[in-house]
Amino acid sequence: MRKGKRSKRIRGIIFILVCLVGIVLIGSSFAMLAEYSRVMHQGAGIIGLIHSDDAAETFRASIDRYRTKSEQFAERLESASVTSVDDLAVNIGLLSKNKQFSEIMFARYFKDGVEYSLSTQPFAADMESKQVIVGARMEVPFCAGIIEDRQYSISAVAYCVPVKHNAFADCVALFYPVDSVIGSVEMKKGDSTRSQITTICSSEGEIASILQNNAFDIQKHNNIYEFLRKQINDKSTIDQVQVLIGEGRSGSFNVKIGGNDCILTVSGIREHGTSPFAVIAIYKAADIYNAAYSTVSTVLGELAIFFVLLIFVAVYFIVMFRASERHIKTLKEYNDMIGCATRIGFEKAAGEIVGRNKSTQFAVVVVDIRHFDYMTEHMGFEQMTEEIKRNRDFFSRTLQLQETFGYGGNGRFLLLLHYRDRAALGERIRTISSRLNVSKVTNSGERILLSPYGGICLAESGLSVEKMIDKAIQAENATKYPFDFESFRIYNEALHSSDAMNEYIEVNMQSALDNNLFKVFYQPKYNLASNMPDGCEALVRWYNPEKDEYMPPAVFLPLFEENRFIIKLDKYVYEQVCIYIANAAAEHKPLYPVSVNVSRITVTDPDFLDFYVATKKKYNIADDFLTIEFTESFAFEDYEHLLEVVNVLHQNGFKCSIDDFGSGYSSYNILKELPMDEIKLDRFFIKKGLSDERDLKVLSSVIQLGKGLKMKVTQEGVETKDQLLMIQKLGCDVIQGYFYSKPLVEHDYDDFLQRKVMI
Ligand code: C2E
Ligand code: CA
Ligand code: CA
Repeated sequence: MRKGKRSKRIRGIIFILVCLVGIVLIGSSFAMLAEYSRVMHQGAGIIGLIHSDDAAETFRASIDRYRTKSEQFAERLESASVTSVDDLAVNIGLLSKNKQFSEIMFARYFKDGVEYSLSTQPFAADMESKQVIVGARMEVPFCAGIIEDRQYSISAVAYCVPVKHNAFADCVALFYPVDSVIGSVEMKKGDSTRSQITTICSSEGEIASILQNNAFDIQKHNNIYEFLRKQINDKSTIDQVQVLIGEGRSGSFNVKIGGNDCILTVSGIREHGTSPFAVIAIYKAADIYNAAYSTVSTVLGELAIFFVLLIFVAVYFIVMFRASERHIKTLKEYNDMIGCATRIGFEKAAGEIVGRNKSTQFAVVVVDIRHFDYMTEHMGFEQMTEEIKRNRDFFSRTLQLQETFGYGGNGRFLLLLHYRDRAALGERIRTISSRLNVSKVTNSGERILLSPYGGICLAESGLSVEKMIDKAIQAENATKYPFDFESFRIYNEALHSSDAMNEYIEVNMQSALDNNLFKVFYQPKYNLASNMPDGCEALVRWYNPEKDEYMPPAVFLPLFEENRFIIKLDKYVYEQVCIYIANAAAEHKPLYPVSVNVSRITVTDPDFLDFYVATKKKYNIADDFLTIEFTESFAFEDYEHLLEVVNVLHQNGFKCSIDDFGSGYSSYNILKELPMDEIKLDRFFIKKGLSDERDLKVLSSVIQLGKGLKMKVTQEGVETKDQLLMIQKLGCDVIQGYFYSKPLVEHDYDDFLQRKVMI
């Protein structure tokens, strides 16, 4: 039992380990995929950035073209001889009208940090854009980006270019129409990456151009920051976008727009540490990473489902495992059909009671029903079950607190009783026994007493309930010994040593013989060839008149062979048989031969032949009415002696038979050389059901050999019709066994013969 529990625990541990490994594996691949997806997102950001950087690049060319144009403007101004402030204004005005610079909307100039319009009046600093003022301080041409000119209330792209060698101006600021500078910018041809939107914005956030728009309701001149604020409610991202533009850098951000994973990219167009313009674009991550991305998200989704399923399955199995264990445990501990504890359940409950009540004396009592199998056969299973349930009800009424009972199967109940002294316990068991003592009528009308019997084991220190039950059962078995008249016995060690048992038999055997307690049974044989009874075999039993029971020869014969009492018993049985035949002949009853068993001890006794021959004569038994059965083992081991014996027996009108053929030795030579009249095939041959092809061949060849040697071939132990048909098919002449008849007491055998029972 402990072994079973251990292997169950090992199985449980393996199951949990497999589940854990599975969970760890899935968990780690899940984490790996999540990491992969994160890296891909970053990758998508980079790809988006490359794409918007491309757009910025095309734009940069346009910016540079206007820068060059503005530098040329400044060079022309430098080369002109300007003599006064007014002259400067005229020159700038004239140049602006020049065809080459016709796109210039208006121009201003700076001198000593003060800005002047062409009217040579200082231009109010707070009217000018900061970038233009910053640009004017640079000593290099500078694109100041889109400015809102407050004088003309228009948007323009401003450039500041230093003017050298001019006494009246340090720098000119030239203003171009936004559309001229930016309008010509387009997305690169052949670019297949689809953005949600790609815009060119000023550093202030004004949308100067929308290069692509596939998703949003947005117009030129709207503010990109306002737009982003509406789409993304992550203020820090928008702040960072502003910082990037301010510092003339590029970057990308992962954002969620309308539930989609998107990439927001900023590509600044760098102008001496700032970016007057930036390309700002939004891409769907899925558009950039299309197939790969969707595969990964599908796999991730599936993995997540699988993961959840695995957890469910694991939990389900663990729950089922527990439930079935609980169920098996209750099945093991409770007998549903009878409605009470099983032996295991009883052991557990009784163990707990004994453990709780250390100072109380307990006894385990097994209570069986005599003739249980016979009654079940003759009353039917259902009715017997009702009987058992009645006993169950009786026990549950009778038992007291701190006592319990269970059902051990085959009519056996197990009780745990507490007791003060043995006398009180004996009294109680007698009461129980008398209450269970009921008589029942079988289906065939036979009245049978369902008398209880059993064994008792008094609790000793350290004995488990399991052991106590075993000992109580051993005590119960002792009630079957001869001359033991108690229905319940208390277990004690001495009783069960084989010496004590043997002593018991030896003490009583002689008186049993003297008092004619050894009884001869006759088991009829049947001849299949002639369809007639074929005599019988005499079999001995030891009768117990008190219990009206017969003890089978297997219990006492081995001992009788050891102490040679068998010689007396064989002679006794043989003489009883002779008396029976003589009487039958005298009464003119139908007469058939009788086979008598002789032990090897008997045969080797010097007196054997004399006694057997003399007794035959004494009772005037006709020849061929007595058959002597020798065992196969004897024939094998003492062949020479047996041969002599057989010859003498033949000379004196006996028949000889070899018994239990096939039980171990199966020597074909013996069969050939010993002049036997009959061969009796051991029950073993047909017990196996003759399913084995080889056994069938052996059996068939033995039968053929026996018949070839003119022996009668008898099959013992035929119990069923199938066995009979099979043996008949193989050519066997005579059968003996329960199918035809059990061994019968003398007068029953007489009746049997009178009825001439045929098969
Ligand atoms: P055995 O000589 O082989 O006797 C046949 C045994 O098989 C008998 O057992 C008989 O009751 C049993 N039997 C008969 N038909 C069937 C059947 O269909 N199925 C089953 N299962 N058993 C069947 P029993 O009477 O218990 O005798 C056992 C053995 O004791 C005998 O085996 C025999 O060797 C020996 N024996 C019996 N009486 C004497 C005797 O007077 N003297 C000696 N020396 N031995 C005896
Ligand atoms: Ca026999
Ligand atoms: Ca036999």
